[in-house]
Amino acid sequence: MVVTYKCFSCEKKIKEEYVKKKIRCVYCGSRILYKPRSITTKVKAI
Ligand SMILES: [Zn+2]
Repeated sequence: MVVTYKCFSCEKKIKEEYVKKKIRCVYCGSRILYKPRSITTKVKAI
């Protein structure tokens, strides 16, 4: 299973292999990354 991070600035998905060496977004250079929740629960709207 591939763990992907998400950039806080540009919201692009980044593979874990890219942030192993340097924790940095490969697209915009931001160092704020987070793990998005893989499972999103849908709430039934009335
Ligand atoms: Zn970014």
